[in-house]
Amino acid sequence: MRLNLRFIIAIIVAAVSLFGYFFNTSKNEVTGETQHVNMSAAQEIALGVQAAPEMAAQYGGESPDARATAAVQAVGQKIISSTKAGQTPYRFQFHLLADDQTINAFALPGGQVFITQGLLKNLTSEGQLAGVLAHEIGHVVGRHSAAQVAKSNLTQGLAGAATIASYDPNSPGSSIAKAAVAAAIAKVIGLRFGRNDELEADKLAVDFTPKAGYDPRAMIQVMKMLEQQGGRSSTPEFLSTHPNPGNRIGELEKEIAAEYPQGVPTGLKQ
Ligand SMILES: [Zn+2]
Repeated sequence: MRLNLRFIIAIIVAAVSLFGYFFNTSKNEVTGETQHVNMSAAQEIALGVQAAPEMAAQYGGESPDARATAAVQAVGQKIISSTKAGQTPYRFQFHLLADDQTINAFALPGGQVFITQGLLKNLTSEGQLAGVLAHEIGHVVGRHSAAQVAKSNLTQGLAGAATIASYDPNSPGSSIAKAAVAAAIAKVIGLRFGRNDELEADKLAVDFTPKAGYDPRAMIQVMKMLEQQGGRSSTPEFLSTHPNPGNRIGELEKEIAAEYPQGVPTGLKQ
């Protein structure tokens, strides 16, 4: 009898997490897509702010180079103030990280955007930097982290169902809330975006960069640089979290041609 009851509870928990996932939908104002997310924008911001120091620490912490940091922040703000990204509730903060060996850029939910000195030193123009930052801003406004977390909550809910089925009332867990926050931070730091997220972020970057006065084709130059770096001994980590730049160059070219059938306007910053 008792076993049966546990089994029934487990099924209910599994069902609730399934329903929670499928009914928690919202329309993304920037991409127009309907997404499964179970976090508010305020929760995304809070999670990103809390996870930022740990993320930065993995790449040598904040860069001591104040001038380069200011340059990164200026380009980032320029993109925010001239695009739809600035009309979202997200609070953008741009971080230059001291690690000059790792080539990477990434974003946490809510607006925390990071680029390593290793990537920055390999960029040859302001337009290329704008392309990288616009791509990361694309992940934020695309709510890609929140969507990933919602997906993993679904599997967690199902795993939770299994936990209840084997729950021992004689040794209940403690400080679960504390552990949940730590788990949430660990999760968002370890997130890997899928290929569709990357392509959407690229697409948003093609939309954003010209509005901020930058030539979107600079992103193709970044991809080519990453490809070359990939052939060397150093580990371009940007490639492990981002799909093969070769495929993305083709997609970027298509995207740019679709946006500008008459050709990219002249006078944009390289
Ligand atoms: Zn990306």
